Amino acid sequence: MSGKGFTTQCVHSDGNVNQPAHGAAHEPISASVLFNYESAQDLVDVFQGKKVGHVYSRSSSGSVSALQNILNEMEQGVGAVCFATGMAAISSTLLALFRQGDHLIVSRYLFGNTRSFFNTLIRIGIDITLVDITDASNVADALKPNTLGVFTETLANPVTQVADMKGLSSFCREHDLLFMVDSTMTPRTMFNANDFGVSLLFSSLTKYVGGHGNALGGVVVDCGNMNWAKFPHILPLYQGDDEKQWGLTQIKKLGLRDFGATLSPHAAHMFSVGLETLSMRMERNCKNAAKLAEFLDSHSAVKKVYYPGLSNHPQHGRAAEYFSDFGALLSFDLVEGVSEIEVLDKMKLALCATHLGDNRTLALPVASTIFFENSDEERAAMGITDSMIRVSVGIEDTDDLISDFKQSLDSFVK
Ligand SMILES: *Cc1c(COP(=O)(O)O)cnc(C)c1O
Repeated sequence: MSGKGFTTQCVHSDGNVNQPAHGAAHEPISASVLFNYESAQDLVDVFQGKKVGHVYSRSSSGSVSALQNILNEMEQGVGAVCFATGMAAISSTLLALFRQGDHLIVSRYLFGNTRSFFNTLIRIGIDITLVDITDASNVADALKPNTLGVFTETLANPVTQVADMKGLSSFCREHDLLFMVDSTMTPRTMFNANDFGVSLLFSSLTKYVGGHGNALGGVVVDCGNMNWAKFPHILPLYQGDDEKQWGLTQIKKLGLRDFGATLSPHAAHMFSVGLETLSMRMERNCKNAAKLAEFLDSHSAVKKVYYPGLSNHPQHGRAAEYFSDFGALLSFDLVEGVSEIEVLDKMKLALCATHLGDNRTLALPVASTIFFENSDEERAAMGITDSMIRVSVGIEDTDDLISDFKQSLDSFVK
């Protein structure tokens, strides 16, 4: 199906991957944990990777493999591995690849739980330097002899900083560093990782790919841009004939198999259904976000709006160059004396909830929820203010959405 448009591929690839029985249009949800073989030698060959097949569904199954194939095809990568959650994709992959004594350069602007996971890596002896990734020269300044990789989000949650992807990419290529990118906020319909030389692309499928807030999952795609022979920690056991597969083989064995955060077959089905409408949902989410950002930017109870589609956003030009749209997440600060809790309590349509990428518009106070474990200094360094409200814009009718924010905010204008 390659060569066809994104949605054409998605709606026609699910049932085509493994040729399911009876011509089922969807890849079946295969519940079997075990796979039996008539010949013991076949089982041995599958165990040893000499034959394609499944042995135990913690490591692989038909439903999850079908989804992995679609996700990989989307990115034109060399392979994909799914996990039970986005956090599992990130943590299992990094723990499979890095060791005590390694150094990583990491974006200072990260999703709170990812940030917390990097603190765990520090505790087990991995050296982390947090930098402002909106300018690649900061990354160059942080380089050490033991640096092995750079980790960033394309578009950061919640303040919407846009990473200097071009600068980071050439820096990583020049120094043979693993370029690890979380593109949860900019799914494939908005952003093409291969244009930016990404090595490992992470995404929380829970968010836009699923879209309906009813399944947890994550994925890492190897985009094929890393020369794994230059990476020092691939175990000899995983250095097969195809060098391009070295990284993913180790991620599958040490990351997925040993840590065991496997995506369920049912969730895999939900995500392949979600993919079918991803492009249309993103279009609508982004359009609503742009309209809402404009409205908020003009409201007297709002001090500042963070949305890359606004011409006053510090990386507006870069966002327009990198992404086909400006995304569906925005944050805003309130003027002195207006309480974020009260503004949220007055909203009737938008749900007061964490999570993002849902069909429903979701809003929450950021500093006191996702980032409440961080110190005031840490929040300030991330650009997070006390009154900040984050909005994940959904697919509601635009006028209804704006009316809801308007009735709440208007009540605080003296
Ligand atoms: C939600 C999120 C994650 C974690 O994904 P889960 O599926 O919730 O574990 C990672 N990165 C970003 C940018 C996210 O928004």
